[in-house]
Amino acid sequence: GSTIGILGGGQLGRMLATSAAQLGYRCHIYAPEPDSIAAEVSHAFTQAEWSDTVSMAAFARACDVVTYEFENVPVTPLLTLGTVPLLPHPRALETAQDRLTEKQFVQGLGGTPAPFAPVDTLAELDAAIAAIGLPGILKTRREGYDGKGQWRIQSAADVEALDLSAQPLIYEGFVDFLAEFSVILCRGADGQVRYYDSARNVHENGILALSTIPAGEPIASQVAPARELAAAVAEALDYVGVLTLEFFATEHGPVFNEMAPRVHNSGHWTIEGAVTSQFENHIRAICGLPLGEPGLAASIAEMRNLIGDEAAGWADILADPANHLHLYGKGEPSPGRKMGHVTRLVL
Ligand code: ATP
Ligand code: MG
Ligand code: MG
Repeated sequence: GSTIGILGGGQLGRMLATSAAQLGYRCHIYAPEPDSIAAEVSHAFTQAEWSDTVSMAAFARACDVVTYEFENVPVTPLLTLGTVPLLPHPRALETAQDRLTEKQFVQGLGGTPAPFAPVDTLAELDAAIAAIGLPGILKTRREGYDGKGQWRIQSAADVEALDLSAQPLIYEGFVDFLAEFSVILCRGADGQVRYYDSARNVHENGILALSTIPAGEPIASQVAPARELAAAVAEALDYVGVLTLEFFATEHGPVFNEMAPRVHNSGHWTIEGAVTSQFENHIRAICGLPLGEPGLAASIAEMRNLIGDEAAGWADILADPANHLHLYGKGEPSPGRKMGHVTRLVL
């Protein structure tokens, strides 16, 4: 096919559309916001309601293949796209949309998540804390990102202050990790799997701040079992495209945090730092093309997110010729919002 549909209009969609253009494809973007930033580089279908089955089907008819850059897309309308392939398959989306099903699924494949329990009421929270212990993190099961919808629980006093609304939650034991890393793989339509080097990820206030490659120890020696798990996930979902699993490196080996059925912020370094970027390989995979070499193209790559007003310092960033600056064109910065990123390569 020659036209790719992308569900979601954020920076990931924009980067996918840019790679698609390089390979000669056109993109249509389906996004709830009329001024989605991905729309700047491709044709947009603005839709006030994500879950509008009729408009999503009309969108799909204008495309040869549909993919997504955002996991909080309603699954039901996606099941009625008719003959247009949706890749990765909606089952991946369905599994990853809910932290509970995601953890159960990965556990079923032999992965080790932090101890967890679903929580819908204060009584269930008390029971979860009694079983799992303190400290812990209470998270919304759905729709959280960048640490939004999470409450750290240190003591009983933190529980008293909580106002549990109607949404389903999950309580997780706090993982005393040594470091964080991600496995990003791309699985082709023929089932071939390619792995990117795992980055050492540093989060600040629940938001990714920094990804560094090579990751060094203790990550380097935990990548193999983590990759094995990621491959099992991809296989079980008959996955096509880029898949990300986030891990905590602990004294006892890798602990699974969460998965993203899409290209990932911790893989932005691959745009300049890998032989073939995660975005290009995702497009290649969903279009049935052979995958490109994912290997590191420098000796060190470091990606730093520009959050809130950090993007205002772009002129200083550009003054260093080793830096590659990306600004997402989001307009006014707000605290905690990802406005851009910078990748620094050491050749
Ligand atoms: P993303 O933007 O990656 O989707 P998210 O909102 O889904 O983020 P998580 O990945 O669940 O959030 O958590 C964000 C960060 O908070 C983690 O990368 C980690 O630093 C910290 N964190 C989350 N859960 C735990 C835990 N159980 N133990 C220790 N730290 C945790
Ligand atoms: Mg997440
Ligand atoms: Mg995360």
